[in-house]
Amino acid sequence: MGVIKDILRTMDYGPSPEGSEHVRAWLDERAGGFGHFIGGAFTRPHDLFDVFNPASGEQIGRASQGSPADIDAAVAAARKAQAKWAALSGFERSKHLYALARHVQKRERFLAVLETIDNGKPIRESRDIDIPLVARHFYHHAGWASLIENEFSGTKPVGVCGQIIPWNFPLLMLAWKIAPALAAGNTVVLKPAEYTPLTALAFAAICVEAGLPAGVVNIVTGDGETGAALVANAGVDKIAFTGSTEVGRSIRKATAGSGKKLSLELGGKSPFVVFEDADLDSAVEGAVDAIWFNQGQVCCAGSRLLVAESVAETVYAKLRARMANLRVGDPLDKSTDVGAIVAPVQLERIKRLMREGEKEGLEVFRADDSLPARGCFYPPTLVTGIEPASVLARDEIFGPVLVATTFRTPDEAVALANNTRYGLAASVWTENINRALEVAARIKAGVVWINSTNMFDAAAGFGGYRESGFGREGGREGLSEYRVSDEGKVKPRSGKPPRLSAAPGLVPAREVMGADLDRTAKLYIGGKQARPDSGYSYAVLDPAGHEVGLAGLGNRKDIRNAVEAAAKAASWGAATAHNRAQVLYYVAENLSARAGEFARRLRAMTGASTRAAVAEVEASIRRAFVYAGYADKFDGAVHATRSRFVTLAMNEPWGVMGVVCPDEAPLLAFISLVMPAIAMGNCVIAVPSASHPLSATDFYQILETSDVPAGVVNIVTGDANALARTLAEHDGVDALWYVGEAKGAAEVEALSAGNLKATWASAATIDWAKAEGSEYLRRATQVKNIWTPYGE
Ligand code: NDP
Repeated sequence: MGVIKDILRTMDYGPSPEGSEHVRAWLDERAGGFGHFIGGAFTRPHDLFDVFNPASGEQIGRASQGSPADIDAAVAAARKAQAKWAALSGFERSKHLYALARHVQKRERFLAVLETIDNGKPIRESRDIDIPLVARHFYHHAGWASLIENEFSGTKPVGVCGQIIPWNFPLLMLAWKIAPALAAGNTVVLKPAEYTPLTALAFAAICVEAGLPAGVVNIVTGDGETGAALVANAGVDKIAFTGSTEVGRSIRKATAGSGKKLSLELGGKSPFVVFEDADLDSAVEGAVDAIWFNQGQVCCAGSRLLVAESVAETVYAKLRARMANLRVGDPLDKSTDVGAIVAPVQLERIKRLMREGEKEGLEVFRADDSLPARGCFYPPTLVTGIEPASVLARDEIFGPVLVATTFRTPDEAVALANNTRYGLAASVWTENINRALEVAARIKAGVVWINSTNMFDAAAGFGGYRESGFGREGGREGLSEYRVSDEGKVKPRSGKPPRLSAAPGLVPAREVMGADLDRTAKLYIGGKQARPDSGYSYAVLDPAGHEVGLAGLGNRKDIRNAVEAAAKAASWGAATAHNRAQVLYYVAENLSARAGEFARRLRAMTGASTRAAVAEVEASIRRAFVYAGYADKFDGAVHATRSRFVTLAMNEPWGVMGVVCPDEAPLLAFISLVMPAIAMGNCVIAVPSASHPLSATDFYQILETSDVPAGVVNIVTGDANALARTLAEHDGVDALWYVGEAKGAAEVEALSAGNLKATWASAATIDWAKAEGSEYLRRATQVKNIWTPYGE
């Protein structure tokens, strides 16, 4: 140790290791291996796999490889416990969650040390960030448990939730999954990642210690196959997954048509945007947190630095200087900044991606290449001069590698920020509040941090846009993932899809409708009537089999044209809500002016009585009015997160939505699905009832006379299931609603895995008279949380 004068000059400090003897003793006592935690007790260990400390390579424990039979047993235990757990009063459930929070807090240091040994993250992070956030999550949701019945009236728990978590924040991800599920009255089976099962097993012991009823929380350890068995288990009502986009996609396919609710929190390649007027020192400090926190193994890591060209060299120089001060090494040392990579496989993945990147001749900077002799370490790395097409700019490296590029204008910054298939998070650095909020609104990401980064709180939703997944975790928006509408027993729909014939008049047309009705309806695309690309029309028949008109037989090309038209109309989403409301009122007014005509059309197509047809039109007018009213009232929120932060939760439209309508209630179902979607600012490709499409095609005359901008509503008639498949596969469609048969719903879910669009597919019979309300608006939007700091 040098003299104090030298120490003050160099600010060098000696090692400061955190004691780990309690954790090691706990692990030694369990050296024989951990079983699963099922029905409130640990099972006998079997088929053990080793768990390693990535910082040293030493084996620290053994856990059981969960088999499908283990998953069956855990799901059965969760099922057995669920009704009783849901029947507890909110207050009782709240007390249990509160007890979990208290017990986590009492074991904070133990859990932090165990997490660091198991995962390799610096103790400073597990002790000061991960575990306090775990406790915060249970406290926050203890509150929700007692509020849920009032705040989520008309809903009930989903049931048994299968939850699969990754290795980067093992206990925190467990808390993000278990706390809301339990608060909402569900029971869970959770599978931790194979690399990092230990804190989940310690948490199981905490559940016992805190007196949680048996079966409410079940933990089955194992690898991806165990996860797949949980996903496939028929007794599970919902899957909540955090991990890679590939596995998320496979889970989307595996759950398609199963009726399981699904939320996916996947990868990212988040932009970190620095404007020339930013406080550059703060921005550099932010970049350190954004990419070297948890060795860059963070789904929302700010891994793409986009910096204004005029300040780029200054920022790079400051970053390089700061990198020289980062200490890489023993994660248990309290002065370590960068710990170990979780496993050799992950380290190899980082090295492979860097080799590919380096082949492109990029400029790579590392302050110090020396690493500990043992264990999985990778030095903090800065890559500059990166092209948007480079593998390092596109792929999630999931390591301590920051890739940087420059921009000249705010528009270019936004374009680069959005030039990714992901959309999890973004940081925006500027001292200009107007610019900050404008850019935050334009970046497609579920979370935007202004002049800050990696801010998390239980009261704010977290989750992605695009291929970063769907659903939110945290806050009110996260809880709705764990509730379903309490509409009693849902009747599955019966009947087959109609056979659409394009052959000429097998059955004579019946003269019932009068000359005011056009009988060869076209498609409606980009504000214009369009002939179907196929050149074919099909006969629309009444119940007696008489032709009542012809409708276009739309195909793949028509859908593509409609998607293009909808994308061009995106400024609808930026119109004021008041503006949209006015247009919707006008639609209702014009529908009302032609109510008689629509009623006659319905009667002719469906054979409904005059009374029923008039009632359907009236209900449709009312519904359009309701959504005109809602357009400027489905507010976002300001979440109560950290002090000196305004966390704005904004409901944003998806963008381009597909809406596939069922055969029943041809006008009312169409209005009930299209109106909420456009009220929230989406542009829609609507596929009306295949059997009774003519009231929807008549509707384009209403659209034309109601100031609905071209491309906001596009109508493509034809085989609804075939068109739904095309919509599901189309990468330009951001969300898709489908109401129809079970087979069609399953196909929509499976095919949507391509761009991971959000789907709402139902094969249930729906009482359209009641089908309205905020659930439709929630499904027509995604929440963006914008964290805005204030104060000097
Ligand atoms: P995975 O997506 O493979 O793992 C996440 C979880 O899913 C783990 O519990 C894993 O089990 C489990 N799992 C794996 N395959 C299946 C399956 N077919 N069905 C159900 N569950 C399954 O991520 P990796 O750990 O392999 O990491 C690979 C890459 O994923 C990283 O480099 C990173 O890019 C990204 N990633 C993103 C994360 C995020 O937070 N968004 C978190 C972790 C990784 P097991 O661990 O036992 O294999």
